[in-house]
Amino acid sequence: MEQVTVIGLGEMGGALAAALVRAGHRVTVWNRTAARADALIAAGARLASDPETAIAASPITIVCVSDYTATSAILTSDAAPAALGGRTLVQLSSGTPRQAREMSAWAAETGARYLDGKIFAWPRQIGGPEAAMFLAGSAAVFEEAKPVLKSLAGGLTHLGEEPGIAAAYFSAGLAYLAGHWIGFAHGAHIAEAEGIDVNALGEMLGGFAPVLGEDLRHMGRVVAQGAFAEPESALKTAGNDIARLIDQAADAGISDAFPRFAAGLFQEAIRAGHGAEEHVAIIRTMRDQGPRQPAP
Ligand code: NAP
Repeated sequence: MEQVTVIGLGEMGGALAAALVRAGHRVTVWNRTAARADALIAAGARLASDPETAIAASPITIVCVSDYTATSAILTSDAAPAALGGRTLVQLSSGTPRQAREMSAWAAETGARYLDGKIFAWPRQIGGPEAAMFLAGSAAVFEEAKPVLKSLAGGLTHLGEEPGIAAAYFSAGLAYLAGHWIGFAHGAHIAEAEGIDVNALGEMLGGFAPVLGEDLRHMGRVVAQGAFAEPESALKTAGNDIARLIDQAADAGISDAFPRFAAGLFQEAIRAGHGAEEHVAIIRTMRDQGPRQPAP
């Protein structure tokens, strides 16, 4: 069993630390709000008084806090950078590829070995076979860290040595999930207005999961091969259907924010001449447009 430190004991960091304790590792923890460590201490973890003491306690430190800004605030405090020298730092907080690359470069300056990982799981799945974790960084460091990381996620993937690649996958996956969450919320909004049981809606859409899984693979192939022609369902057909959600919202007296946004993207693609193509040909207008506003 390994010695491992976990910094950050929120919903996800707490689940990571608990899984490591369950797996029998010797776990040291630190969190800005110390009280969040109480249950872990009762389960056998040790609480460090500050970040540098936590880092010094183990050859490997896992950080899972809100973002890279919080991570930097913790890891640059007092003697924390000096403690990192010669140790392995695994950043599991979410962030952008640029932030991951910058943190990798900063970690190298401190003499730390760095892995940048992103979690595709809910906290309750951590430690089990359904939890997926993607990591970027040195293959040798990944191999060394594997006994610890395997205790966190059954689905463990090393994507490569480029430090931003796990964050790039995470950003792309999050973009997909954003549509998934907003789409369901608007569907539930319709269900409520029309007197439909939202539980039944969730069950019905859940039943489509295998079909949606195949559609995701299909869209990946279409975009990768540029094979937008000859769709089973044309972009303009779906775009016109989605535009009718604006009428439905007006009829029901509910928000039309999501249908207006979605219909707008479809209409732009139709105007650009992609109406007879695959739904995912929307990417072609995105490519042509580039960024519209400076990043927030
Ligand atoms: P959370 O419950 O809100 O916990 C946030 C953690 O960050 C807490 O430990 C908090 O400390 C700490 N923190 C925030 N700002 C800080 C600062 N300036 N200095 C020191 N500590 C600070 O969030 P979470 O759900 O655990 O998420 C943590 C990371 O995991 C995020 O990057 C998230 O995107 C990622 N993630 C989460 C999930 C999920 O389902 N929850 C799934 C995948 C990825 P205090 O306790 O002192 O406030």
